[in-house]
Amino acid sequence: MVLFDVHCHLDLFENSEEIVRRAESSGVRIIINNGVDVESNRKTLELSRKFKSVSAALGLHPEFIERFSDELIDSEINFIRKNKNKIVAIGEVGLDFHWVKDKKLRFKQEDLFRRFIDLGNELKKPLIIHSRGAEREVVNILKNAEHGSFIMHSFGGRLNLLNDLLKEGAYFSIPPLIVRSSHFQELVKRVPLSNLLTETDSPFLSPFKDKKNEPANVRLTVEKIAEIKSLTFKEVENNLFMNYLKLFSY
Ligand SMILES: [Zn+2]
Repeated sequence: MVLFDVHCHLDLFENSEEIVRRAESSGVRIIINNGVDVESNRKTLELSRKFKSVSAALGLHPEFIERFSDELIDSEINFIRKNKNKIVAIGEVGLDFHWVKDKKLRFKQEDLFRRFIDLGNELKKPLIIHSRGAEREVVNILKNAEHGSFIMHSFGGRLNLLNDLLKEGAYFSIPPLIVRSSHFQELVKRVPLSNLLTETDSPFLSPFKDKKNEPANVRLTVEKIAEIKSLTFKEVENNLFMNYLKLFSY
């Protein structure tokens, strides 16, 4: 079995060892930890050294833009460059207008996002994109940029943006929250299987009310996609893994 989680934050767990073991024993072979700032980028590299099943994505999360000075941004982009052989993707990057309302900070997010698009081209790595409250803006920036492959992580925007994103070649990674979210169910109906992937955003976006999310839960997403697309679990699992291979070995 080859299940995978392209987007999580293992560094936010105190018991990451237990979380990884539990994922592995439920068939999850690949867990991509996404860094969000200087500290978590280092922890992400550490986790990928420690666990065979963990791969690293490094980035600067737009929600924390206020904390990122120009010097920090330059040095972190260089850090990512230096570690290009240790990472599989650039993420978590993108725009967040849900938490960030200030116009100047939003411009700063957009500049930073464009720099990460360029970095993706330079390093030939896919981008893992956060777009909360700024989905239209993310689409516009991608449309007007030369970009490589990219994943829209837990896309919460309007579904009328899907076609524009698909035209740009978007992959959509779907969290286990789909079991009780009509938004993600409708998204999966509209997006071809060839453009879907699985993620958890652990410990966030739990499908359970009183339990943290964790990578082992990706099987819930596969089950739900199978139900929606009228396919077997195995068929969905195999197809999603082919998408994974196509995307991460370009
Ligand atoms: Zn995240």
